[in-house]
Amino acid sequence: MRALVWNGEALRIVPDYPQPKPPVGEALIQVLMAGICNTDIEITRGYLGFTGILGHEFVGTVTEINDDDQSWIGKRVVGDINCACAQTDCVYCNQDLGRHCSQRTTLGIVNRDGCFAEYLTLPVRNLHEVPAAVSTRMATFTEPLAAGFEILEQIHIASTDKVLIVGDGKLGLLINHALTTTGAAITQVGKHPHKLALAQANGCETVLLDAKTQSRLAQQFDVVIEATGSAGGFNFSLACTRPRGKLILKSTIAASHSIDLTPLVVNEITVIGSRCGLFSPALSYLASGAELTPLVSHVFPFEQSIQAFTVAKTKGELKVLLDFSSSDQSSSE
Ligand SMILES: [Zn+2]
Ligand SMILES: [Zn+2]
Repeated sequence: MRALVWNGEALRIVPDYPQPKPPVGEALIQVLMAGICNTDIEITRGYLGFTGILGHEFVGTVTEINDDDQSWIGKRVVGDINCACAQTDCVYCNQDLGRHCSQRTTLGIVNRDGCFAEYLTLPVRNLHEVPAAVSTRMATFTEPLAAGFEILEQIHIASTDKVLIVGDGKLGLLINHALTTTGAAITQVGKHPHKLALAQANGCETVLLDAKTQSRLAQQFDVVIEATGSAGGFNFSLACTRPRGKLILKSTIAASHSIDLTPLVVNEITVIGSRCGLFSPALSYLASGAELTPLVSHVFPFEQSIQAFTVAKTKGELKVLLDFSSSDQSSSE
């Protein structure tokens, strides 16, 4: 099968990558569409040291099941990217927190080939059927949108809270969608007028970043979400959090950076790291008719995935999707 492989030095399309065979309990899934995430780009900068097939945001069709329950065959699915041990003595798996299982592999990120290929395998228990009302293109947003809804699994946001989302990229705008369900007053700050316009269309206040923004927004917000994807976002976000407020960190980046922790102590700020979320709230939100089409910048056929990566890295772009259905399907193995 064809696959987009990162070997630690370069990205290339491998035409004859071995097609995976699903182990017991897993499904073989033919990929229909996949999304390029900042995490994929960070991996090509050294994040987590992963090598193999990249990609973790996908929609596909189940073609084979190595399990008794064959009812999944032919279904259009998305899949939780964290593959946990599911053992009864695992403290995380026992609490439905497989995304923290110490034995886990993660699709296209840790010890498991990803979805930028014609086929992938995932445990059957990770699968979620895509509701008929949700298009394949919209369903590719399930995984990053679930990461937005994860914030609401971790903290309660009251409708009276003032919330700031720092960053107007893909993740920042998906977090915007997730948090609008709380009824709280949301402000989004970023560098791109055309991206902030999408937050505005969602009923939110927006602030275009300039030299005076930080002093104007200082200590104004009960909850601040850092989603800039860059090392510099932390200090800005911390400065905007009011004393006793909550600061949620969403950026996963390869670069390390030094930070001054004193304001955290002085202002008694609660800092919460936040990563992957449950798929069901995201799928329900998509099925309710949420319109995320403006978040798609480009759709490339899989053959052009190297070019798609270059575009995805360009400042100002939003989600870049890879379409496998428009590709030549002649290769089978
Ligand atoms: Zn991602
Ligand atoms: Zn486990």
